[in-house]
Amino acid sequence: MAASCPQEIFIIGGGFSGTLTAVHLLREARPGQLRVTLIEQHRRAARGLAYRIWDDSMLLNVPAGNMSALADEPGHFLAYCRDIDPAFNEGSFVPRRLFGDYLEHTLQVAERGSRTPFTRIRAQAVAVRRKQASPLLQIELDDGVTRQADQVVLALGHLGAQPLHFADALAGSSRYIGNPWDYAAMDQIPAGGPVVVLGTGHTAIDALFRLTSRDDERKVFLLSRRGLLPKGHRTLPQPPPTTTFPGYLEDLPPTTFAYLRAIRRQVRLRQRQGCNWRDVVNALRPHTPEIWRRLPEMERRRFLSRVGPWWDIHRHRLAPTAYRRLRGMLASGQAAVVAGQVLQMHEHGPGVRVIVRPRGGSEAREWDVAAVVNCTGPDYDIDGLTASPLVAQLRDEGCVRADPLHIGIDVDAGYHVVGADGLKVSGLHYVGPMLRARYWEAIAVPELRRHAHNLARHLLTPGQA
Ligand SMILES: Cc1cc2nc3c(=O)[nH]c(=O)nc-3n(C[C@H](O)[C@H](O)[C@H](O)COP(=O)(O)OP(=O)(O)OC[C@H]3O[C@@H](n4cnc5c(N)ncnc54)[C@H](O)[C@@H]3O)c2cc1C
Repeated sequence: MAASCPQEIFIIGGGFSGTLTAVHLLREARPGQLRVTLIEQHRRAARGLAYRIWDDSMLLNVPAGNMSALADEPGHFLAYCRDIDPAFNEGSFVPRRLFGDYLEHTLQVAERGSRTPFTRIRAQAVAVRRKQASPLLQIELDDGVTRQADQVVLALGHLGAQPLHFADALAGSSRYIGNPWDYAAMDQIPAGGPVVVLGTGHTAIDALFRLTSRDDERKVFLLSRRGLLPKGHRTLPQPPPTTTFPGYLEDLPPTTFAYLRAIRRQVRLRQRQGCNWRDVVNALRPHTPEIWRRLPEMERRRFLSRVGPWWDIHRHRLAPTAYRRLRGMLASGQAAVVAGQVLQMHEHGPGVRVIVRPRGGSEAREWDVAAVVNCTGPDYDIDGLTASPLVAQLRDEGCVRADPLHIGIDVDAGYHVVGADGLKVSGLHYVGPMLRARYWEAIAVPELRRHAHNLARHLLTPGQA
């Protein structure tokens, strides 16, 4: 009987990863094999946090030639772009909004071409539990409705921003923006007043652009412990080559510093041959999960604390126009980067007083600013996480757990989540940036498209899901 009943697959989260999992299921399922339902809390599915922005000055940070949603059709996104404007090429950095349009379109095409029933639900999933004495999973939605599934995919994306203990005194203040993707709140900051942005990565630079796009006079301080800014892409960047595991790393002891020294040597060697350091970093990208697998836990910790910030600025680069815009703002003094540590923040008059100890200095500095924006990055530690009621419920009931480094969600090779008892939770899967716990390099489209496809194949293969 089981073989003749279509499997009910529910995907919770209709951003990039959830949408792509649905696309592959719709494309590859046999007629009658499945019914697929996509649950998305936001008004528009198939966009997610990154691509639901309508501000076309916000660009992708990966060139169009490497942004295909389909790993086995590398030119898929570029063809979509060129249909709109033939001037786009594989090195173009296009608006994030356009990528959202493309995802919506890709899902619609898959839906139209499939004989697999597909349903979209707009709701927030707040709990997933095993139905008593049954292999089925029960999904509770925020409107009180429950749905039953054979398989559930958690594709929830980022689960909010890192909470900052030193911002407690500003809880509830409109002068403290804890959610760095809340551009509407940023737009409410009174004109003219300076703003402190906590963080110097991509999210901080997005905030800088937003804060100054409507207020040309505004000064923005970008503050992080080391004050490291992302590097820029070259113009006309090439997609990463598909190479075998780099021979120069092959026989090294699996330690962070052995790899780092070898990579630096390789950069110097390639530079002497007229190449760019970016070629070495790009060539490593497909092999980062293997390097991560080889590192023992202690070495992974060492990487995160000693090398991670440098790796990030070389690996996650800015589009050339965004990089130029940033450099121009730094040169004019409109933006300033400060390396240091916040000691305290509190409301002061109509704004906020921020007390900072600059890196390497002993004297604290005080800034009186109109507002503070937290751009220190997503919260990857699910222990203590409250931003997602669903993840909090699953964690509290032992159905998901953090990895030992608290940088993601523990999964097995088949994308099953691993419960508090260390065993896979059958029927419950995860795909998205929290895969970094297992693969490290797993937060952007070129990796997530492959994970979404692999997961869909697991779900389609009897006995594997
Ligand atoms: C601002 C920003 C810019 C980025 N730019 C790039 C880029 O240029 N290139 C690149 O390769 N990568 C980029 N990334 C990385 C990005 O994380 C990935 O590209 C990808 O979008 C992540 O997909 P996801 O599906 O895991 O998360 P998302 O796309 O964010 O999707 C998660 C979805 O789940 C929904 N959801 C969550 N919880 C529930 C629930 N309980 N019930 C129902 N729905 C729920 C959310 O509303 C959301 O729509 C960017 C990320 C950010 C944040």
